Amino acid sequence: MKYYSTNHQAADASLQEAVVKGLASDKGLFMPYVIKQLPQSFYDNIENLSFQEIAYQVADAFFGEDVPAETLKQIVYDTLSFDAPAVKVKENIYSLELFHGPTLAFKDVGGRFMARLLGYFIKKEGQKQVNVLVATSGDTGSAVANGFLGVEGIHVYVLYPKGKVSEIQEKQFTTLGQNITALEVDGTFDDCQALVKNAFMDAELNAHMKLTSANSINVARFLPQAFYYFYAYAQLKKAGKADNLVVCVPSGNFGNITAGLFGKHMGLPIKRFIAANNRNDIFYQYLQSGEYNPRPSVATIANAMDVGDPSNFARVLALYENSHEAICAEISGATYTDEQIRETVKAAYQETGYLLDPHGACGYRALEEGLQEGETGVFLETAHPAKFLETVEGIIGDKVEIPAKLQAFMKGTKQSIPMTKDFESFKAYLLKE
Ligand SMILES: *Cc1c(COP(=O)(O)O)cnc(C)c1O
Repeated sequence: MKYYSTNHQAADASLQEAVVKGLASDKGLFMPYVIKQLPQSFYDNIENLSFQEIAYQVADAFFGEDVPAETLKQIVYDTLSFDAPAVKVKENIYSLELFHGPTLAFKDVGGRFMARLLGYFIKKEGQKQVNVLVATSGDTGSAVANGFLGVEGIHVYVLYPKGKVSEIQEKQFTTLGQNITALEVDGTFDDCQALVKNAFMDAELNAHMKLTSANSINVARFLPQAFYYFYAYAQLKKAGKADNLVVCVPSGNFGNITAGLFGKHMGLPIKRFIAANNRNDIFYQYLQSGEYNPRPSVATIANAMDVGDPSNFARVLALYENSHEAICAEISGATYTDEQIRETVKAAYQETGYLLDPHGACGYRALEEGLQEGETGVFLETAHPAKFLETVEGIIGDKVEIPAKLQAFMKGTKQSIPMTKDFESFKAYLLKE
């Protein structure tokens, strides 16, 4: 499969080039030329297949031309060693729980898949070590670090702002050791991101070592997220609730929802999507006005969605050939303040006993407000509520049980390398590696 850049100024890339590079040389995002339809027989029988079996069919449509079948199957099966159940919260509203992986958030799926695919390409070419740089405000770093842990030929550097991530998040990427190095930057998340961007542009550094990124611009990280949309459909079909399905996605950088839109373009019978935003509602505003006006992000209690210029917006435009009308026909929006998110977590807990995290709460509320007669809604519960322990306990006035996986991280010993936000010292550090 050939990939083009959304900016149309770069040469076409192979899958391998797209995965190793991340971003196209014209700073556009890679898109596959062809989105394959899956056969009707697949949809007819989907409710009888396992998550792994479904995901392999989807992966084959994306990557089957470029990766041998047995290898691809292995990558998919290794990635999805955990479930993503659709749990009924109340009449016609289901939660697709994407928090049963190692770091209890949906980013585990893309992180693990990308690590394995990149590992395969490196081994195949007998290439020298590849170094993954990832700036994180919390969740991305842990999913990428745990995904790449122990993968041969790859070293991961996680840059995070000192004192600005929660203890539980910090432990998830500073306690791993092996091929994972945590760099504790005396600065903000934006400073971390600037260090990473400067590193990619620095000629001397790139001559010294092979660098790549692992955020959701990478096709190997965002496309595998399509897997669980198909699995959600399969589960609802089994429950007799798959007609007029509405999928609601709590969105920040729009990688997750874009993967779902790919699913729809492959024939997955989803009637429509809702993109739920917190106060960072640039996409919501775009739907209303047709104008895309990025602005600096504001901090909210659903902090993984605090994005002021969603990078995957370019892919949404490409999928719908820049037509605002076509986008509005399939996607609607919602936007909630912290106060509304709190209200929603509390009300849902009291009324149904289901505990939402602040991100999932935006999705749940958008369905409550936006579902029409005859529709069934499923929202993506993107992280386990215990990952936002203080916030959630504060809202419900009750203790939240911490899953064993999170407790295990808490027992580890933090190891990090202190770093200033000055690029020259970061570069000097990498040149010595
Ligand atoms: C990353 C993240 C999101 C936003 O996903 P995008 O793909 O960036 O739109 C939502 N919720 C949680 C918990 C996340 O970690």
